[in-house]
Amino acid sequence: MVKIEDYAPIVGEGTVEAIREMAEIIRGERAVHVNATSYGGGVAEILSRMIPLARSLGIDVTWQTLKGDIDFFKVTKKMHNALQGDLGTAISDEEFAHYLKVNAENAALLELDSDVVVIHDPQPLPLVRQRGRGKWAWRCHIDTSTPNEAVWSRLDPMVRMYDLAIFSMERYIPKGLAIPSIIDYPTIDPLSPKNAPMKPEDVTKVLERYGVDPDRPLIGQVARFDPWKDPLGAIDVFRRVKSAVPGIQLAMIGSFARDDPEGAEWYERVLRYAGREKDIFVLSNLDGVGDLEVNAFQRAFSVAIQLSKREGFGLTVTEALWKGVPVVAKRAGGIPLQVIDGTTGFLTEGLEDAAERVALLLRRSWLARELGERGRQHVRLNFLITKGLSNYLRMHIELVGKMG
Ligand code: UDP
Repeated sequence: MVKIEDYAPIVGEGTVEAIREMAEIIRGERAVHVNATSYGGGVAEILSRMIPLARSLGIDVTWQTLKGDIDFFKVTKKMHNALQGDLGTAISDEEFAHYLKVNAENAALLELDSDVVVIHDPQPLPLVRQRGRGKWAWRCHIDTSTPNEAVWSRLDPMVRMYDLAIFSMERYIPKGLAIPSIIDYPTIDPLSPKNAPMKPEDVTKVLERYGVDPDRPLIGQVARFDPWKDPLGAIDVFRRVKSAVPGIQLAMIGSFARDDPEGAEWYERVLRYAGREKDIFVLSNLDGVGDLEVNAFQRAFSVAIQLSKREGFGLTVTEALWKGVPVVAKRAGGIPLQVIDGTTGFLTEGLEDAAERVALLLRRSWLARELGERGRQHVRLNFLITKGLSNYLRMHIELVGKMG
């Protein structure tokens, strides 16, 4: 069972003690988090670790997920794309009605009677229409800085029914937001199977299981198969790097989230684009790539790439940096908070530029080591679960009026 004191050697006694004190103030209070999926993507990743840790501190917090059919998740994925700025996406009245109906059905099934209710992302947003007692917060994990106005204006009346909104970055707060908002960076758990230390021989075993040569350099992108993550761009970068570093291998690690109907289609596209190139490994949870395997691959990367065109925060970047691996990434979403250009990795504009940076880090292993080490320090100070938990506790304390 996870215990807060296990984190003291990583973040220090002081941080752990402050968390205990905050938890004491709201001991026994009820909280519930609702999101769309228990598996796949950053939100599920965060909640799967944060909820047990909060429970271990005496807070009666549960995590519940929505039940929806394929039509529901098609609409919510469209909504996700529209909120991230896809102006071409329209949601019909019929689709919107279905979205509301599924939420109304879920409101009857879920246990929402709580002191604090935290609703994650747009999928369960309408649950607030059935709100009872307690304080309600909407935690938006996506980049809503330039939302498709037509879609946002349908959601805005429901957003107004919340007590608080939480965003991953200041600039994601939509213009004219009518309720109070705070910023909270996503975080990773250094003790989870995905991030905990691994023996080098265990890393090698995982690579060999998938036919990757542990003695040749490997670069990779871990990301859902999704157009915003630009997996084809990652393959282009690899092809460019390969002309300078012939032995290089590429791992494209992606998972299929239950709430993401585009995944299968994009997986096929990636496979087709990779073609018969034997040094490109396209792997997913369907090949048995779970947390431990992701951990091993990230540790094995000489350089991690993240070519996302849009990104909420980019936990895969946090995970790579925590493992001391430098990251070459596009300047999307929360990535520049993590990849400090020239310090923890490189920020790039185009694919050509990205390939040059990757090749540089492959040639200069001392530079890769130095950036990787600074990346790890940066994550330790800013993006570990203890930080996320103390932000959560503070929010809860304020929402229920126990700050003073
Ligand atoms: N992930 C995974 N397997 C994969 C691809 C992604 O476990 O094949 C995890 C990844 O390690 C990270 C999360 O899913 O913890 C993705 O979070 P991120 O913020 O990068 O992107 P999102 O999917 O939420 O857009």
